[in-house]
Amino acid sequence: MGKTSKTRSLIALEEKFGAHNYHPLDVVIQKARGVWVYDVDGKKYLDCLAAYSAVNQGHCHPKITEAFVKQAKRVTLTSRAFRNDQLPLLYKALHDMTGYDMSLPMNSGAEAVETAVKAARKWGYKVKGIPENQAEIICCSDNFHGRTTTIVSFSTDTQYRDGFGPFTPGFRIVKYGDIEDLRRNITPNTAAFLVEPIQGESGIVVPPEGYLREAAALCKENNVLLIVDEIQSGLGRTGKLFAFEHENVRPDMVIIGKALGGGFYPVSAVLASKEILGVFHPGDHGSTFGGNPLAAAVAVAALRVLVKEKLIARSKTLGQYFMEQLRAMKNPHIVTVRGRGLWIGLVLDTKARPYCEALMKRGVLCKETHENVIRFAPPLVIKKSEVKWVCKQIASVMKELS
Ligand SMILES: *Cc1c(COP(=O)(O)O)cnc(C)c1O
Repeated sequence: MGKTSKTRSLIALEEKFGAHNYHPLDVVIQKARGVWVYDVDGKKYLDCLAAYSAVNQGHCHPKITEAFVKQAKRVTLTSRAFRNDQLPLLYKALHDMTGYDMSLPMNSGAEAVETAVKAARKWGYKVKGIPENQAEIICCSDNFHGRTTTIVSFSTDTQYRDGFGPFTPGFRIVKYGDIEDLRRNITPNTAAFLVEPIQGESGIVVPPEGYLREAAALCKENNVLLIVDEIQSGLGRTGKLFAFEHENVRPDMVIIGKALGGGFYPVSAVLASKEILGVFHPGDHGSTFGGNPLAAAVAVAALRVLVKEKLIARSKTLGQYFMEQLRAMKNPHIVTVRGRGLWIGLVLDTKARPYCEALMKRGVLCKETHENVIRFAPPLVIKKSEVKWVCKQIASVMKELS
């Protein structure tokens, strides 16, 4: 497709010296600002993936850049052996914004999920009184919670598991969106139910209305912790701070990551009550980089941008507009359009990859998920005129490939 020699040589280096655990589109990005990214030849594209929602605030946001550079010149890493002057401010910001008593900082999303699993198990033994080594955590079919060996132990995607056993025991799978299946699988040894309020990787799957609310009630009745993974759905993506707010529930634990680092730095956290996070005592759990001052300063700035620029409300209104535009497209290959806020799955009756390639040629970057779904999740700073332009490109591509 007319790749330049610069593009070709960089791709060749990557293919030769890097492990092939991804299948990226062949665009080599050199620079980015807001919703726009630029390849090594200066061609510009509108980023409709936003690094899987890790850049909700837009690429290289000036306020986050400022906080990042300022902190990078002062102190970046102390380890938790000592205290630093930024982490308390992140704790306070998270508390003020979410109302949860406490948080525990990590780096990647998977580490925060692991932290929640450990907290739930320990809570199960020390507080609920589950017999030693009997605790169970219920997870959903088609979940995505990350890639560690324990997390893939409760994945239902064969590729995520193939060749990686033996797996960690103590997890039970129920059908996503099926409240009766959850009810049937709760036992006296159930410590927690871990769920995505909307399943992102599985194709922006929105569960039936009331599912989370009923799940929350079931958990409460049975003294089971409700843990929601808001790593991708949280921090404004669905038009609310957290996707669980659409159902007015109050989970016991919330896992966040991705956009918490504003696209600059891996920052994740588990939010919960004092009773739950109180199960951790010094030495029980930790991370060298977790809660470092650079991460804390970046996260505080990233949260501030979400609020100051009213990005959450923007996600709601522009998401509605985006979805209306897609729904108005009449095309035999479109099965359905689903999502919430600026988090939209365009479900096709055919492979989505060629559509993503064609969109890339027209200057729109997006990625297929699960073969036949195109996910649209641009940075929340996108303008209405830009949404309109993207929709125009989508309409043209739909026509071209039909
Ligand atoms: C991305 C993601 C994770 C894993 O986060 P990493 O930072 O890639 O480890 C976990 N859960 C959900 C819902 C995610 O989207």
